[in-house]
Amino acid sequence: MPIIEVRNLSKTYAGGTTALSDVSLDIHESEILALLGPNGAGKTTFISIVCGLVTPSGGEVRVGGHDIVRDYRAARSLIGLVPQEISIEMFETVMNTVRFSRGLYGRKPDDAYLEKLLRDLSLYDKRDARLMELSGGMKRRVLIAKALSHQPRVLFLDEPTAGVDVNLRRDTWAVVRRLRDQGVTVILTTHYLEEAEEMADRIGIIDKGRLMLVRDKRDLMHEFGR
Ligand code: ADP
Ligand code: ADP
Repeated sequence: MPIIEVRNLSKTYAGGTTALSDVSLDIHESEILALLGPNGAGKTTFISIVCGLVTPSGGEVRVGGHDIVRDYRAARSLIGLVPQEISIEMFETVMNTVRFSRGLYGRKPDDAYLEKLLRDLSLYDKRDARLMELSGGMKRRVLIAKALSHQPRVLFLDEPTAGVDVNLRRDTWAVVRRLRDQGVTVILTTHYLEEAEEMADRIGIIDKGRLMLVRDKRDLMHEFGR
């Protein structure tokens, strides 16, 4: 069974903009799927619906078999999200940030898990540092740690490297690949072909709210003559 099943999903916002039209897609465990498309294509809307933050106008989303609308709590606990618009408390320490985030999900405290998570993200040495003391790359990894604090099975990253320099981008790519190798399913959005090509196992191309095609990366690169 796919970890995420999306069927005939559509979204028309109150103002009348249709952001998604009839999108269907299965996402499999331990894959990295990139949704590639220009600004305004509907990528953030897709993520927001699958994460249960926006109600669809039509269609259905199941996460781990749970309907995201009707069974929100069960579905949501399987998902971690690094949104595009980020806000973090710069005076807080790294460890407290992930502890607090885990608490928000109503999960039991588990510092052993959180310490392992910080080690995996090369943040363990900085666990007692305030976020304001961290480099840009470390701050980005804290956002990922926060999204993984409640041990979800799927991680969503909305434009994870928009506007960051090439070193930070590579750092993020390496982290994401490592997570996938540990069994986390990753869905990211991007408008960089290069990023999709570097990172993803599968690429979905989305334009004007429609999922134009979904292919294994190798097949797609072959079609593009790359
Ligand atoms: P992308 O993430 O690919 O840039 P979005 O999902 O953000 O695309 O946007 C898709 C379309 O929906 C755009 O035309 C955008 O202006 C519109 N849109 C996004 N969010 C809202 C909203 N909250 N209300 C009305 N229109 C929106
Ligand atoms: P600068 O390069 O101006 O010193 P920072 O070190 O503050 O910038 O930020 C570098 C990167 O860290 C930014 O690209 C941004 O993605 C991320 N970042 C900065 N502030 C925050 C924040 N409040 N929450 C999450 N990420 C942040």
